[in-house]
Amino acid sequence: MPNYSETHHRSLHNRDAFWRERAALIDWETPFTQVLDYSRPPFARWFVGGRTNLCHNAIDRHLATRADQAALIFISTETDQRRTYSYRELAAEVNCFAAILSAQGVGKGDRVLIYMPMIAEAVFAMLATVRLGAIHSVVFGGFAAASLATRIDDAKPAVMVTADAGMRGGKAIPYKHLVDEALRLAVHPPAKVIIVDRKLDAGTSRVAGRDLDYATLAARHEGARVPCAWVESSEPSYILYTSGTTGKPKGVQRDTGGYAVALIASMRDIFCVAPGETMFTTSDIGWVVGHSYIVYAPLLNGSTTIMYEGLPIRPDPGIWWQIVAEHKVRTMFSSPTAIRVLKKQDTAYMKKYDLSGLKYLFLAGEPLDEPTARWASDSLGVAIVDHYWQTESGWPILSASPGIEDTPRKFGSPSFPVCGYDVRLLDETTGDEVGTDDKGVLAIMPPLPPGCMTTVWGDDERFVKTYFETIPGKMTYSTFDWAKRDADGYYFVLGRTDDVINVAGHRLGTREIEEAVQAHPGIAEVAVVGVADQLKGQIPVAFAVVKDPAKVATAEGVAAMRRQVMDTVDRELGAIARPGAVHFVTLLPKTRSGKLLRRSIQALAEGRDPGDLTTIEDPGALEQIRQALQPTAVK
Ligand code: AMP
Repeated sequence: MPNYSETHHRSLHNRDAFWRERAALIDWETPFTQVLDYSRPPFARWFVGGRTNLCHNAIDRHLATRADQAALIFISTETDQRRTYSYRELAAEVNCFAAILSAQGVGKGDRVLIYMPMIAEAVFAMLATVRLGAIHSVVFGGFAAASLATRIDDAKPAVMVTADAGMRGGKAIPYKHLVDEALRLAVHPPAKVIIVDRKLDAGTSRVAGRDLDYATLAARHEGARVPCAWVESSEPSYILYTSGTTGKPKGVQRDTGGYAVALIASMRDIFCVAPGETMFTTSDIGWVVGHSYIVYAPLLNGSTTIMYEGLPIRPDPGIWWQIVAEHKVRTMFSSPTAIRVLKKQDTAYMKKYDLSGLKYLFLAGEPLDEPTARWASDSLGVAIVDHYWQTESGWPILSASPGIEDTPRKFGSPSFPVCGYDVRLLDETTGDEVGTDDKGVLAIMPPLPPGCMTTVWGDDERFVKTYFETIPGKMTYSTFDWAKRDADGYYFVLGRTDDVINVAGHRLGTREIEEAVQAHPGIAEVAVVGVADQLKGQIPVAFAVVKDPAKVATAEGVAAMRRQVMDTVDRELGAIARPGAVHFVTLLPKTRSGKLLRRSIQALAEGRDPGDLTTIEDPGALEQIRQALQPTAVK
């Protein structure tokens, strides 16, 4: 039996053989001629010359052996719907959707923007897009019209796919209204919008000539067969936007062959789900976890995936465990925040169900605190696997790999580097490796393994500059996370090195939120910091300077302005980015060169020491932050 260390060593030092073996897990229409082309660092091209298709590998190739097996189980506790699609039925739906897109002129390399709630049609749209060799850009439904417009203008989609509405907690959330608004704001709106009408929002309007009804088109194309467009391995499969230090989100570009190989390998080496077994990932298709582990990895692997629309505590807090028991889920993937929500509920809800088929609960997206991990482990009696990755990587960077060796896990640690990743901890100023238990920047020596982002959409230079030029001395990929490694080789992730914050596992840029707040005409300046929160990990808190101080001179004035600021963020970015609190000051703490002292503000907001203040321009500014945080301040 190979062990983890030997396999990881082999993945780096006998790289081609390691990946060649894993590449055999997918179908290639034309075999690749070279495992890796790294002639233009840091751009890595995996499985050069190989032609394949994600949709063929996720659906068609399983039809001979598992046509009647469940591929996708859609469960909505919002609309009380449950539907299982076998591989055969999924193939029919996806072919039909591909025919619809093709009839609208979508072909190889075109973009399709998907702005959808968690419904099966979103999966059909994604798979249909890649079937045609086109590129999808799924935008999380929680983003507001202005953010959606920015993403439309960057991706320039030929077609958009949306629904009339989503549902959350029994309340309809309009999508189409937002799309209409985004299309008004966009400079490059798509010619056509396909709308899945769930009949949840009677007020949905249609623009003649632009808006098309999905059900009508589906009836027209029912039974269609659309051949897969074979694409070269490094051609893009999708774009997924993510936040960073600047206000402008980056389009993470993913390839085709490398992604398929990395995902299928991860199902075996990490998640331990065999073909025919069921995986339940509770994320949203708008995030990378949804792309990789609701849609692609389980289907590529010939497994069954569960797509869930609803809350974890509705109709009661036992719903997820009921699903696990009923569908004999083997591996579940969720977030620490979701588990913290469930931890507040009576454990009788989970004890009610037979969870004996559940082997692993994987958790990622944010730090997993020890009490939550312990609680989950004790009450579920399954292995809890903390693992670490990012939108950019597309699949785990640090994790236990129980499919290779069931190494013991330590609470608070996402264990070890995953095979294929040459992980280093580097000193941010010298670029040298740090010692045991020392804090360093979590970095990856390129070439990045298959599946990782290949560039920033439309901006190779930004890709190189952002990710590979921040550590002195060598071209190294920075994750922008701090971490340390203990004497046994276990990694501990210690938080971001940049201004990105993590709210309930969702990554938000403080610059983006600041720009949203500043869209309010009464705000002169603002600093947004992430403040520790027991449930969500972090929440954004804003300190704003108003143009006219008279506006916030009274408690009523403060309350009104605060509401307006929050509404502005809802409108510009989406409610997920809404600050948990907005404080008004007349001055923000900055260095003499004008840089915001976000870390000091954050420290004060968390009741910690603000640290080194020798560079501060005006110490009175920090005093104002302190005052604003007092419970007695004008609220
Ligand atoms: P995203 O790209 O939205 O998936 O966010 C990725 C970021 O989430 C990482 O850079 C980390 O800051 C954080 N993160 C993800 N997984 C973990 C984990 N297991 N422990 C600590 N932080 C994590």
